[in-house]
Order: sequence, then structure tokens, then C-alpha cells
Amino acid sequence: MGAGDAHLRVTTDARAVTHALGHNWSCHVCGKTRPDPKILVVSRTVMSGPIEIKHNLRYCGDSPGCANDAQAWAAHPDPQNWHDGL
Ligand SMILES: [Zn+2]
Repeated sequence: MGAGDAHLRVTTDARAVTHALGHNWSCHVCGKTRPDPKILVVSRTVMSGPIEIKHNLRYCGDSPGCANDAQAWAAHPDPQNWHDGL
């Protein structure tokens, strides 16, 4: 189980580096990969017991459907929803 955790961390870090370089981003709403200028981010904070956890959601800034879903996600914090893939 510990080795699996380490692998997950490495994968996440590599993905973060790719994003920092301005490459393509995947939209959390529709799942498409878009160029950086087309992707926007919304954030929300949820409580996990006494701990605040900040979640970021990426979405297509030029897609009304994705933007609507992203705003709904930000307005209704629900740790049971949108958990996977964030
Ligand atoms: Zn999208």
C-alpha cells in the first residue's frame, strides 16, 4: 500500500510540472484536453472534519456548458461529488 501511495504522488507531481510549463490542460467537466489559454480554474474550500481542503476545478472558459457546471460545483461544496480526478 505504501508503494502505491508513492507512485501516486510521483504521477501527480509530474502532471503539475507539465501544467506549469503551459502545456495542455484537461477540463474536469467534459474531460477534453485544451490549450492553456482556453482553460479557467475555480476553487472551493471544503471541510474534512477540522481540516480545510482546497479543491481546484479546471474547465473550458469558452464553453458555456463547462462554465455553468464549474460554477455550480464551486457554489455547492460536496466532498462526495467531483472527488475523483481532482
Ligand atoms: Zn470542458
